[in-house]
Amino acid sequence: MSSTTQLTKTDAVPMTSGEEMIRWVEALFPICRSITGNGVRETLRRIQTWIPIRTHEVPSGTKVFDWTVPLEWNIRDAFVKDATGRRIIDFHRSNLHVVNYSVPVHQKMTFVELRKHLHTLPDRPDYIPYRTSYYKEDWGFCLSHRDLLQFSEGEYEVQIDSSLGPGHLTYGELVLPGKLQEEVLISCHICHPSLANDNLSGVVVAVALARALANAPLRYTYRFLFIPGTIGAITWLACNEAVAERIHHGLVLAGVGDRAPLTYKKSRRSNAEIDRAAGYILRHLDRAAKVLDFSPYGYDERQYCSPGFDLAVGRLSRSVHGEFPEYHTSADNLSFIQPESLADSLSVCLQVLTLLENNHRYQNLNPKCEPQLGKRGLYHTFGGQLDSGQSELAMLWILNQSDGTNCLLDIAERSGIEFSHLKQAANALEAAGLLRKLDDADTRLARQVG
Ligand code: ZN
Repeated sequence: MSSTTQLTKTDAVPMTSGEEMIRWVEALFPICRSITGNGVRETLRRIQTWIPIRTHEVPSGTKVFDWTVPLEWNIRDAFVKDATGRRIIDFHRSNLHVVNYSVPVHQKMTFVELRKHLHTLPDRPDYIPYRTSYYKEDWGFCLSHRDLLQFSEGEYEVQIDSSLGPGHLTYGELVLPGKLQEEVLISCHICHPSLANDNLSGVVVAVALARALANAPLRYTYRFLFIPGTIGAITWLACNEAVAERIHHGLVLAGVGDRAPLTYKKSRRSNAEIDRAAGYILRHLDRAAKVLDFSPYGYDERQYCSPGFDLAVGRLSRSVHGEFPEYHTSADNLSFIQPESLADSLSVCLQVLTLLENNHRYQNLNPKCEPQLGKRGLYHTFGGQLDSGQSELAMLWILNQSDGTNCLLDIAERSGIEFSHLKQAANALEAAGLLRKLDDADTRLARQVG
């Protein structure tokens, strides 16, 4: 059958608006998340009201490759009180005030003693930094440098009402089955407290993507992971090595809500189909978009692209982590992200996935010299969308290149003709009996042989 899988907005594939994604971020923003604990569970429960994810609990102490699932951390309250009993640092005003994974503490101390546990950003004096101490037992508070300057010598009462004990690492997963067992992975981290771009933006775009795909006929099977960064990806890979072998393409979504142009970071393979598809879409959409080479630093692509897995997983971002002043500070808040950027990121994800879904290989059924297009009524086929010269050229390229080894993206790159136009031309040639789409089993064979 000649058809184009269309994942971008159609009647069957409704698109979540940027405004709705902002409302989801607003709902998730106040929750104090970490790599384990009730903040993650509460986040996943909210996500379950939007899409039907399954949650998994992996016990503390579980060995996962070179790592161990840590003790579970939970926090109820934290403050620093001055000599008058006034809370001058209050966890309930911002959960960034407490170093994430702080062990419990309750004591009185001098400013000199307390100062060793206070973290500020002197170069950005109004921002509260975001700090963690996952793998070293410690405690601390984060505050704006301006607030620190108000502290005087004297005695302070310090309390962190947290707990660190045997529990679980929690993550969420959703599988949308397609025609093929081969999978596309969409992964985002859910371990940051009140930060909007890093990474609630990735979470809500992943949710919106899952909603869009849930209504579409799918060639690939899609797996969505909502996991704590680093340890969550390592845990998932350790528990799912056999599933990981089915992942043929993937995207990590991180920092996709700010105003910067899009950035795609290639997988370790650098020339995987996802790398070429994302690069193709970004080049065609926005001259300001950037494609970066792989590096073993960043988000969970580090784990998916470790040499023992070497999965074809790239990363879509806007501003790159660590390269903007709001990164990992209280300034990464709701005003740092905007609905237009979230909607654009969602649309680009859908365009990349649409390309993957339609990137078939074909066999020319009349390969000895050109077939006569005119007698088959193949001129003026595309109903005014293309002029006949362009549609003829698209058909000639496809017929010439379709020896079973080239995919449509190969032909698009070589010919300079837009992928969607080539797909229309391929549909027309297929309908006229001149072209046979190699089914996915044939394609797999061709890849092995080639
Ligand atoms: Zn981060």
